[in-house]
Order: sequence, then structure tokens, then C-alpha cells
Amino acid sequence: MECDKCDREAVMHAAYSGGHLCETHFCRSVEKRVRRRIREDGLLSSESTPENPERWVIGLSGGKDSVVMTHILDETFGRDPRVEMVALTIHEGIEGYRDASLDACVELAGDLAMRHEVVSYEEEFDVRMDDVAEDDPLDMAPCAYCGVFRRDLLEQYADEFGADKLLMGHNLDDEAQTALMNILEGDVKQIAKHFDASLGSFADRTGQTDFIPRAKPLRDVPEKEVALYAHLKDLPAHITECPHASEAYRGEIQQLLWKLEENHPGTRHSIMSGYEELAELTADRYRSDETGENPALNDCERCGSKTGSRICRKCRLIESINAV
Ligand code: SF4
Repeated sequence: MECDKCDREAVMHAAYSGGHLCETHFCRSVEKRVRRRIREDGLLSSESTPENPERWVIGLSGGKDSVVMTHILDETFGRDPRVEMVALTIHEGIEGYRDASLDACVELAGDLAMRHEVVSYEEEFDVRMDDVAEDDPLDMAPCAYCGVFRRDLLEQYADEFGADKLLMGHNLDDEAQTALMNILEGDVKQIAKHFDASLGSFADRTGQTDFIPRAKPLRDVPEKEVALYAHLKDLPAHITECPHASEAYRGEIQQLLWKLEENHPGTRHSIMSGYEELAELTADRYRSDETGENPALNDCERCGSKTGSRICRKCRLIESINAV
């Protein structure tokens, strides 16, 4: 099949758009969608100047999504004096998995001459995910611990590195899965939080005061296209599944979405456009009426992170792990 834009052979067919694109036009189309998302979200503040640049901390795991995001961000802003970028890798302590993806991160950051920082659960919490998965003191899935620890370290270190924004490499499939899970679980509060945390234009996010704003520049690009882009650009992405991957419900939703997308191309895009609107409407409902801001959070009595309780979830999890 020929490319829709030239006479070269197409490397991909997108059923949701009906388009066939060759390597060059496909890569351009991915980059165009990421740059449009950055523009529409107002990621780069108009107040950033070469004298007073913004600092973006990029969550770099070494998987295809974060590697592609970092590559395109560097192509777009690598020589822009209004932006400083720092890549941050979290090491969970998973034998044979994170060490290999860390190599990919080091290679990419070296190629791009980008500042790269690595922090580990072991150094920070004296915890390794391999041990947590084995002992499992609270009889939960490993990802339930791991997600809490990762969020805590990303937030803590983004703050320490002076980040104005925290950039995550979630793709369209990740986002549509999360949206559908929240809807099917009836978790309206989570939908509302999602808007303030990572959706919509930065200019509209009036409710977030306690956390560093997050952006997801890849959220319009389907997972398979991210993987194809990484392959065509020969980027050093590490593609292996974590041995503790255990989010069974997310896996079910992923299968369901693949089936829906196959039978009704464009399903993921329509879920996200409806979800974003719903999230914006519900975000107002969960902010306090008088101020229009989210209710203020406390500082955790043990570690000082922001929390709605006296002791944050991460500290409570660590306490349970240490009690084993
Ligand atoms: Fe952590 Fe689960 Fe991701 Fe593995 S799959 S790195 S355990 S969140």
C-alpha cells in the first residue's frame, strides 16, 4: 500500500483515521500530534524567558513511551533557552528488569546530553520491590505498593530539582484504560482529580496548588504507534514486561479496548474527549465552593509529603513492610 502523502510504501495503517503513511510521514505525524498537544495544553508558559527558564522534570523509565517522549521533547525544546529539562529515573529494585531499562535511560540521556538523575526505593525507603512482592504484608498486588512509592518519589524529586512541571509518557491507550476504569468503578472523585492533575490546559487548572502540575504530551498517540516510532527511529527503548506486573483489572480493560477499537475504530479517541469534558465538569464539584480551590492538604507527620490524612499512604505502607 502506498503512503497517502507520497509514492513511498506505507509502514502503517491507522484504522481510526483511514490513513496510510510511509516512515517519514508517519514519524512527522507522531511529532505533530505531540507538539500540538504541548501547544494546546499551554505547556510552555508565556512567562518563560532565556533569563528565567521553566524547568521540566521528565519521568524516564527506559520503556518505549518515556523514551519517545524524551526524544521528541529534546528535538523540540533541546535548543530552546526558555526550557531546562531533567530526566528522572526511579529504580524499584526489580532484578533483571529495571537494571536493563536503566541502561536504556543512561544511553538516551547521554546521546541527548540531558541531565539525568536516578533515585531508588532502596536508598529512599530501604525497600526493594522484589522483597515486597515476595512478603506482600497487606496481601495486595505489587503494583499497589509500587505505584504509591513511585508517585511519592517523582513528586519529591521533581520538587527538589525545582520543577515547574512534571512530564509523564502515558500514551492514548494508557489514558483510555484509566478513564474507562474510573468510569466503570464509578470513581467520580478520581475523575475530578485527573483533570486537575494532568488534563486540560494549564491555564484552566485553577484547583491544583499542592502538587507540581503534570503533563502527558503523548496522550494523543496510540501505544502501537509509539512502539513503531521508537523502532523506526532506532531509539534505545527497553521493551520487557515487569515480572511483578499484576494489574489484572487493567489487563481486562486493555483487552476490551483492543476489541472495541478493532470493531469501532476511534473508540479510544472518543472515550478521551468525553472523559476530559466530564473531568472538567466534576473538578469544579470537588473543589471547595468558596475558594474554587481544592481543599488544603496536611504535611505527613513522618515524611512531610502532602496528604489528606495525618500519616501519608507511603509511610503507612512502609510501616507494614517493616513489620514483617
Ligand atoms: Fe511496579 Fe507494577 Fe510497574 Fe512492576 S508493573 S514496575 S511492580 S507498578
